[in-house]
Amino acid sequence: MTVSALALTSPLTDVPGISDRLARDLSTLGLNAVGQLIAHLPHRHEHEEAEAPIAELVPGHVVSARGEVTACRPVGFGKKMRFEAVLHDGSDRLDLVWFNAPYLRSKIHPGEWLRVQGKAQRYKNAIQIANPRFEVIDPDAELPTATGDGGSLRPVYPASSRVSSRAIELAISKALPMALPLIEDHLPAALREQRSLPGLGDAYRMIHRPDDEDEVSRARRRLAYDELLLLQLGVAMKRHHLRETQRAPALRSSERVQRSILERFPFELTGAQRRVVADLTTDLTRDIPTNRMIQGDVGSGKTLLALYAMLLAVESGQQAALLAPTEILAEQHHESITRVLGEQGPEVDLLTGTLTPAERAGVLGRLASGQRSLVVGTHALLTESVTFRSLAVAVIDEQHRFGVHQRAALRSKGDAESGLIPHMVVMTATPIPRTLSLTLFGDLDVSIIDELPPGREPVETVVEPTANRAEVYAGVRDAVERGEQAFVVVPSIDGDEETGLTGLRAVQLELEQTLLRGVSIAAVHGRLKRPTREHIMERFRRGLIDVLIATTVIEVGVDIPNATVMVIEQADRFGLAQLHQLRGRVGRGALASRCVLVSDPTTPESVERLAAMRGSTDGFFLAERDFELRGPGEIFGSRQSGLPPFRVADLSRDHLLLGAARDDAQDWVMRSPRLADTSEALVRRRVLKSHGAWLGLGDVG
Ligand code: ADP
Ligand code: MG
Repeated sequence: MTVSALALTSPLTDVPGISDRLARDLSTLGLNAVGQLIAHLPHRHEHEEAEAPIAELVPGHVVSARGEVTACRPVGFGKKMRFEAVLHDGSDRLDLVWFNAPYLRSKIHPGEWLRVQGKAQRYKNAIQIANPRFEVIDPDAELPTATGDGGSLRPVYPASSRVSSRAIELAISKALPMALPLIEDHLPAALREQRSLPGLGDAYRMIHRPDDEDEVSRARRRLAYDELLLLQLGVAMKRHHLRETQRAPALRSSERVQRSILERFPFELTGAQRRVVADLTTDLTRDIPTNRMIQGDVGSGKTLLALYAMLLAVESGQQAALLAPTEILAEQHHESITRVLGEQGPEVDLLTGTLTPAERAGVLGRLASGQRSLVVGTHALLTESVTFRSLAVAVIDEQHRFGVHQRAALRSKGDAESGLIPHMVVMTATPIPRTLSLTLFGDLDVSIIDELPPGREPVETVVEPTANRAEVYAGVRDAVERGEQAFVVVPSIDGDEETGLTGLRAVQLELEQTLLRGVSIAAVHGRLKRPTREHIMERFRRGLIDVLIATTVIEVGVDIPNATVMVIEQADRFGLAQLHQLRGRVGRGALASRCVLVSDPTTPESVERLAAMRGSTDGFFLAERDFELRGPGEIFGSRQSGLPPFRVADLSRDHLLLGAARDDAQDWVMRSPRLADTSEALVRRRVLKSHGAWLGLGDVG
């Protein structure tokens, strides 16, 4: 096989110097082709001293040397056991000693070559290193060695028990020289220059074989930029495609229309709500499809804004739908919207998975004919059999629970005849760190509600150890005696002895029989049938039940101003964002409220999470904190967001780079919306490969 015939897709066995056995080992890490191997990046670099002949090692310094094992033996017993070895390299002898390392007996044998690093000392007239770092090497395999006085940086690769970092390094050192000329750069030279980025081939060379720290950071910057840019290009293409090639119905609005909508509302809007109403009015009266996210903390009053957008559609003689993630939430929206609209207002249908076939047929018929203008529903709304006469506005509540595909399914329910798609408004009570929302939802405009309706008392939050539960529930009893109500949230229904997970049933029994004896208690959870659950919730709302024990089904959905205490059992089992959501279920009226986090946290991270909850009621702050503590995947569940993980970029550190990538992607797509020029073929292919599927770019290509 000649060198020139090698391609990035060539199997590793084609690379001279990579043995069949090494290739087999590498394939257990999913590394089968040259390109895959080169893309296997070190996760860090280790400083390594320059190697020197043994005779030149300087006592008192950290040194590195290699030599043949001429003798080795374990000495002593038990705890005192040490392992000694002698190395010769032709220039002199080097003594090695490891304390407390009996396992070395099976690792180091006479005749083998070792490479060692550690602090040299003079001991009994010889040079010795105690507890050196070492590796067994093949003296004939020319591993790159450190040169020069300053030593070098050695890449440390993600490895396995079968393939060591050094084996990967060896393979890469064989493949890299042939692979580098084959790497095509998708970035135009002008952009590279403007952002001071090295070429792609150079970046790969510098990350695998850096001369110094500076090269490592330049290489990382380039590779991180690439990841961010490809994502932002995908997002920008998608956005451009929607805005330029799709049309939505431009709704009518006027002073009179707005007044007639706002007059139906039971209270004055807050300043923040008024700003969002203005944003929505501008959006919905244009024929550019709206893609707006409303972010507002729990209780900030998003429902009215959804209703505003929906009624704007009705005023123009069109239809609107509200999609909720759970049945309880859909039911509550349906109920509260029906209540606000009153007897005179337009009727609202409810579409969930638990309707009878006849009920369902009724709803579908009314939506298809246009007889009904408003519908609230769950995922059941997304099924193909649901059609509208003219759907102008689609609102999604708790957007993070739905993926891009669901947005697309809803969008496709516009008016097939006229080719118009509905305006999309998504709402979330999970405040999303700005860096993330740029990344994940870069195709959305964002409105933020940063003000709660007047008259809310902040919820006092305390953390209590399990040992204080009796007092915690004495406090609950006091609240009940004052005529108030309480939630108790438990992380699971049945519990799990093995993992120590608390179950709802056990807590219920305990409260009923001892801690809250005589208090009226009921439980709701996801396994109850809808009518039962509805019945219990209704009784709680009407004050017939004092304490409601629940799993996270109450995370979204209930609005009970008289509930003033939220006890969360095993609070460390919940994420920060989730805890904040749960806490938002109390403090919805004028009464002072309390949230008690019962927990004996076991990890530093859970201690921090609970401290953050105690210290802040600001959802945005908590979201940032959650992001720092657990990364983006946890906030959304990467399955839900569908976002492919980054390998190099780190969103909590690389915001500047993200901003640059976003600006560059927007400029680029503005100039060339489909990246259709032949010079763009490579970058286009890479965008589609990385992000086509999850962004649903099929229609863009
Ligand atoms: P979110 O969905 O943002 O969590 P909701 O829309 O459920 O919040 O509103 C929370 C509570 O605040 C509801 O009881 C609602 O009626 C009330 N509310 C909403 N807007 C206002 C307002 N401008 N003034 C007073 N109360 C309001
Ligand atoms: Mg809501």
